[in-house]
Amino acid sequence: MNYEPVIGLEVHAQLLTDSKIFCGCSSKFGAEPNQNTCPVCTGFPGVLPVLNRRVVEFAIRAGLATHCKITRSSILARKNYFYPDLPKGYQISQYELPVCVDGYIDIGVNGAIKRVRLTRIHMEEDAGKNIHELHGDWSLVDLNRAGVPLLEIVSEPELCSAEEAGSYLRTLRAILQYLEICDGNMEEGSFRCDANVSVRPAGSAALGTKIEIKNLNSFKAVEKALDYEIGRQTETLTDGGTLIQETRLWDENREETRAMRSKESAHDYRYFPDPDLLPLVIDEEWIEEIRASLPELPAARKSRFISEHGLPAYDAELLTGRKDIADYFETAVKAHANAKAVANWIAGDLFRVLKERKLDERLTITSWPVRAQQIAELVQLIDGGKISGKIAKAVFDAMLDSERTPKEIVAEKGLEQLSDTGSIEGAVEQIVTAHPKQVADFQAGNEKVFGFLVGQIMKATQGKANPQKVNEILRQKLAKSI
Ligand code: ADP
Ligand code: ZN
Ligand code: MG
Repeated sequence: MNYEPVIGLEVHAQLLTDSKIFCGCSSKFGAEPNQNTCPVCTGFPGVLPVLNRRVVEFAIRAGLATHCKITRSSILARKNYFYPDLPKGYQISQYELPVCVDGYIDIGVNGAIKRVRLTRIHMEEDAGKNIHELHGDWSLVDLNRAGVPLLEIVSEPELCSAEEAGSYLRTLRAILQYLEICDGNMEEGSFRCDANVSVRPAGSAALGTKIEIKNLNSFKAVEKALDYEIGRQTETLTDGGTLIQETRLWDENREETRAMRSKESAHDYRYFPDPDLLPLVIDEEWIEEIRASLPELPAARKSRFISEHGLPAYDAELLTGRKDIADYFETAVKAHANAKAVANWIAGDLFRVLKERKLDERLTITSWPVRAQQIAELVQLIDGGKISGKIAKAVFDAMLDSERTPKEIVAEKGLEQLSDTGSIEGAVEQIVTAHPKQVADFQAGNEKVFGFLVGQIMKATQGKANPQKVNEILRQKLAKSI
């Protein structure tokens, strides 16, 4: 029997508001422990939460950008559980009536587009953080994060592979980043994902037993954990075993999932509407105002890169996956309008350097090794015949972490292309004289030797001769000396 995987993802996105969701404390990361706290977010008795309008606005932005229906009257609910990092003994979240429902995003899968439906987006508060390592046998509690606003974005179970899950997460993250509501940093936990996965006999309509995987701190972890879990479930069923619904933890070091808790021990959260908060009523006017203020989103920007800059779909997809890269590209193209060449330098040499420096998985790059202006000028020098493509690679390397412009580097290192016929003729003459055997071979019809001779001339001119001119002059020369 063949089994097929079914995956649904729950994403927690930390919102970039200045203050927390129900009090005025700062929600910035990195303060001294327990500095960003007040009686509300530390759960003192008798305090009252006040919903942060910005959080609702961000939720509506996310909902509109993902084609959701915005719920005109939604409910904030208490989700009850006990844990030291949750001072009230409940988390304020949304349950039966979330702020956004029934959306979708389109993701790229092997060059095709797949539509993945979103069940819901709801608002909730984050918990604090327990710290176990710092103080011997003691655990410490830091409540700076308690009350920081989150959106939980839940997909329908319709992703079919680890790769699709990765594509979904990247697309969703890009949308939130373009909306400027979440910085999307998985390593720092501002974009977190729980992955639900089951397998079922291929072609069957019923869903299999669901396993939820937690502790996924990177895109790679999500993909690896899903692949592992799909394999484990398939093997268990193939061997005649059964699966139980449970939560499993991804172990990064051993690259396997481990049972954490089963359905039997799953929490009963005893949800009920929070009596301290009124139903959230959103008027149509506000929704339309937010709709009108939405920025250009990744899919629209991709289409525009194709139509306006004439880029192939592949390049457009690559460059719009992150807002900072798309901005960088457009800055360069504004300075020199050769979009395809600029795209090639970014997708080729620049991405290579970003990868080497482990900057490629970051959501925004604060220090680029090369400025967009420098890329533009580099392409301009090539297009103007001032340097060859090969020399340009050397100029690119010299530009890394340097404020010098390509023009300055070319002048300084004497890299300007030789295009005047006189000096190229000298080099051609010299190589032809030095290689009588190859010349004879060529003249006897061995066309391959031509490349060798061109190579020798380029070497003699330290790669600076204009290759097209070299070709022309060498051909003439060889034809003459017959
Ligand atoms: P729970 O009640 O345990 O939270 P939900 O039905 O709300 O479960 O679903 C949570 C997530 O799990 C959603 O993203 C959903 O798409 C996914 N999911 C639900 N059932 C399955 C299944 N059988 N296989 C894979 N994913 C599933
Ligand atoms: Zn507070
Ligand atoms: Mg659920």
